Amino acid sequence: MIPRLRRVRALILHRTSIREKDRIVDVFSLEEGRLRLLAAGVRRFPSRRAGHLEPLMESEIVVSASPRGDSIRDSRVLRAFPRVREHLDRLRVAYYVLRLLREGTPERLPDARLYDALLALLRALDRPEAKVTLLFALSADLQLLRHLGVLPDTGTCAHCRQRLRAGEFGFDSRASGFFCRECAPSLEPAPQLTNTVKLLRVLTRNPVPPPRLRVPAEAVSTLAALVRRLLRPVHAQVG
Ligand SMILES: [Zn+2]
Repeated sequence: MIPRLRRVRALILHRTSIREKDRIVDVFSLEEGRLRLLAAGVRRFPSRRAGHLEPLMESEIVVSASPRGDSIRDSRVLRAFPRVREHLDRLRVAYYVLRLLREGTPERLPDARLYDALLALLRALDRPEAKVTLLFALSADLQLLRHLGVLPDTGTCAHCRQRLRAGEFGFDSRASGFFCRECAPSLEPAPQLTNTVKLLRVLTRNPVPPPRLRVPAEAVSTLAALVRRLLRPVHAQVG
């Protein structure tokens, strides 16, 4: 039987050794989404191939399909993110991104927009002048929520479907959405929520936080709390 070969571009997420020389490599690929791949005999070729399959590499991988599953036939590094590896604060964010992809994305659900967004984030972290802020991890969270189809709609009220106006947002965690003032007569005007919604929109549109973006700290912490709540089912599923 001739194995079916295909070529994918992928971020290496995680690697586990099985048996003496084999490894299981988790990747998130542009073409096919998250995949578990067998890398047979990797340790025999440390210089030629093993390095291409380290976490936090973007590699081109030739995948060979067999009844036992997909395995790696060949690979080459596209990006190694050297400056991310030199700085602990950058590395921490990068590993968070890899963990989100590994734990949060369903297997074989391709999403080019998610791939491009998170790759752009990692490339921004690799720039010489990169300044790590909370917004990087928050942006990655939002991209994942969009991928899973649970990013709250900031344009319309989750209850009455009317257009939402600035200064009149509330957030309903049960509906996982924003609601308008009319739907919550007791709702206090919440200016910090207006900034939170603005921040959510900016980061959804620009995965790499604009360097000159000025955001009140309150908006960041409110959005972070909201995102944590929305991500809880994702992490619970994994755990
Ligand atoms: Zn409403």
